[in-house]
Amino acid sequence: MAEIRLESLAHSYSADPQSVDDYAIRRMNHVWADGGAYALLGPSGCGKSTMLNIISGLLRPSEGFVKFDGIDVKELEPQERNIAQVFQFPVIYDTMTVFDNLAFPLRNMKAPEAKIRSKVTEIAEILELTPVLKKKAQHLSADEKQKVSMGRGLVRDDVSAILFDEPLTVIDPHLKWKLRRKLKQIHEQFNITMIYVTHDQLEAATFADKIAVMYDGAIVQFGTPRELFEQPNHTFVGFFIGSPGMNLIEVSEVSDGVIFDGMRMALSSSQLSALEATDSKNIKVGIRPEFVHLWDEQRDDAWPALLTHVEDLGTYKILTLKLGNQTIKTRLAEEVDVPEGDIWVSFPSQWLKLYIDEYLVGEEADELPSEEQGGPDAA
Ligand code: ADP
Ligand code: MG
Repeated sequence: MAEIRLESLAHSYSADPQSVDDYAIRRMNHVWADGGAYALLGPSGCGKSTMLNIISGLLRPSEGFVKFDGIDVKELEPQERNIAQVFQFPVIYDTMTVFDNLAFPLRNMKAPEAKIRSKVTEIAEILELTPVLKKKAQHLSADEKQKVSMGRGLVRDDVSAILFDEPLTVIDPHLKWKLRRKLKQIHEQFNITMIYVTHDQLEAATFADKIAVMYDGAIVQFGTPRELFEQPNHTFVGFFIGSPGMNLIEVSEVSDGVIFDGMRMALSSSQLSALEATDSKNIKVGIRPEFVHLWDEQRDDAWPALLTHVEDLGTYKILTLKLGNQTIKTRLAEEVDVPEGDIWVSFPSQWLKLYIDEYLVGEEADELPSEEQGGPDAA
């Protein structure tokens, strides 16, 4: 088990990178603490596999350091790093039995046969592979093959970390949920540092205690699912997390607040100070659909809006509203009625977030993002 520390890490696949756009990983610092269950969440192409491959040693970073428990591992080959990695597609020996496939990593390190037998039996039990232990791997279904591949990553409990790179992609949806629960259970049992890569927010939230959201080669936030929801550190986190994502409105600065479509919005004093301190014209406000407040009468802090669409999703409804020229979404609980007449909306100041150059600013001091969080100054 180990703490994995990335220091001034950057990677470009180009031999002669010209600008930040040529980097698959932009210069970053990040710490995966020992024993944590983490998810690395982001859209396709944002650099997730690149980061895992740098940690496991399959890829040599163009800049910076990878340290396990403070020790630089840059010169170590993958097998010397003591890391298990499970890939998107099964990596197994077709002509070997399931038992021998699972035993392989243990035999490789010359574990005693008795230990091998007990460990393989244990992991096969957890992954429900016991009935097929004697089968040749080539005769397995796609699901079973991937389970064997995962099992090979899980049999060793002496590894520094286990890295999963979208391991459930080829698994049947029904089984997916079950396997995710099992991984979590295995984590609770052995407390090995686990990093689970996915582009699915639900998968990330069910597996991980803490999620690193990656966007365009950078970790833009590292936090609990709740922190990502309540305090998105970057507009991408607002947009990507949640269903639907955060409402983001482009605004211009005015005295004492911001304005859009002729509507003036008051801001907190710390938000106003953040605005004063910048020359940027890229200013947005964001509010999650869950926090938009609907009223059936006029109020000082509310604006008239037009209801254009209602989508009933059973346990909740999504309302689409026109506010000036903006389209905003709001989420209503099942038992709340859709307003019939005129509607006014307000944005409770606690949940109204201000973004300059896409990063969250102007939060009260006690709500400031933690030091581990990514940000424009993190690199
Ligand atoms: P993810 O796993 O998040 O989908 P990757 O780490 O695979 O993203 O890719 C990050 C970026 O690096 C992408 O723009 C991708 O096209 C590029 N990339 C990945 N692998 C290579 C490679 N071997 N050579 C050149 N570019 C690559
Ligand atoms: Mg990938």
